[in-house]
Amino acid sequence: MSVQWFPGHMHLTRQAIAERVKSIDVVIEMLDARLPGSSANPLLGELTKKRPSLKVLNKQDLADPERTALWLAHYNAQPGTRAIPLDAGVAAPARALIAACRELAPNRGGMVKPLRVLICGIPNVGKSTLINTLVGKRSAKTGDEAGVTRTEQRLVLADDFYLYDTPGMLWPRIIVPQSGFHLAASGAVGRNAYDDQEVALELLDNLKLAYPALLLARYGFGLTAEALAQAPAEELLDAIGRQRGALVSGGRVDAQKAAELVIGDFRATLMGRITLETPEQYLQWLRAGQVA
Ligand code: GDP
Repeated sequence: MSVQWFPGHMHLTRQAIAERVKSIDVVIEMLDARLPGSSANPLLGELTKKRPSLKVLNKQDLADPERTALWLAHYNAQPGTRAIPLDAGVAAPARALIAACRELAPNRGGMVKPLRVLICGIPNVGKSTLINTLVGKRSAKTGDEAGVTRTEQRLVLADDFYLYDTPGMLWPRIIVPQSGFHLAASGAVGRNAYDDQEVALELLDNLKLAYPALLLARYGFGLTAEALAQAPAEELLDAIGRQRGALVSGGRVDAQKAAELVIGDFRATLMGRITLETPEQYLQWLRAGQVA
């Protein structure tokens, strides 16, 4: 089984973005720094490939700084692309994003040629938080523009800097199974799209190799890192359930409750700052997907 997520209306969003992009100078794509590859929507790359791109690795405060550095290097090596880490709730770095956009489109700016920036991201990635931070207490002008979708908003962040919100919803598009598990673990897809136990087992299998010290510090297990690497995820989940009192009558572990505990711990960074995938792993999955 895998994570099944097929929300509707994607074709409408596709058309609206394609239309919007015609008069856009820079596209900001907000990604979740804990799962940059998986939180991207490949459709967006297709629609915007001729435009300079700013990848924002948001929620960097939750992610592993070493892996964030790998992802930044990965994106910064792509032509026409810049990447920055961000905590969308913090004002100064959010404002620095404006400067990064200006650098990506040096021929735009000034009243005659204002810089037009489109901000995109899958739900829950932090777009509203960032927009609120950017707008701050200033009375930024917001409003619908005639002739485009009613839900689209244009924010005037400076006299010559217009920020457009994505028309429509840019849902995640799961193209490799691992991405489905990572999106589910992060909370980016609806609960009925996945099975908690399956996601928790995948998470434990991932973390026991990538972050054994964090896993041992949180749950103990009484294992060495080497023994942990060999332990089946089912046994780890069982031990966590037992330790945290997630039991059903007869003293058996309530695997569902144990799974919810593990996923909850990850989301709340109770194990520490974790990034679920590296650029190298993600590219490998893509290649494997193409072969299949
Ligand atoms: P949107 O659906 O993309 O507009 O996402 P929201 O702005 O509503 O953010 C979704 C959740 O992520 C909220 O609970 C935010 O408080 C949280 N959030 C957004 N940005 C960050 C960030 O940089 N760091 C952390 N820790 N949480 C964030």
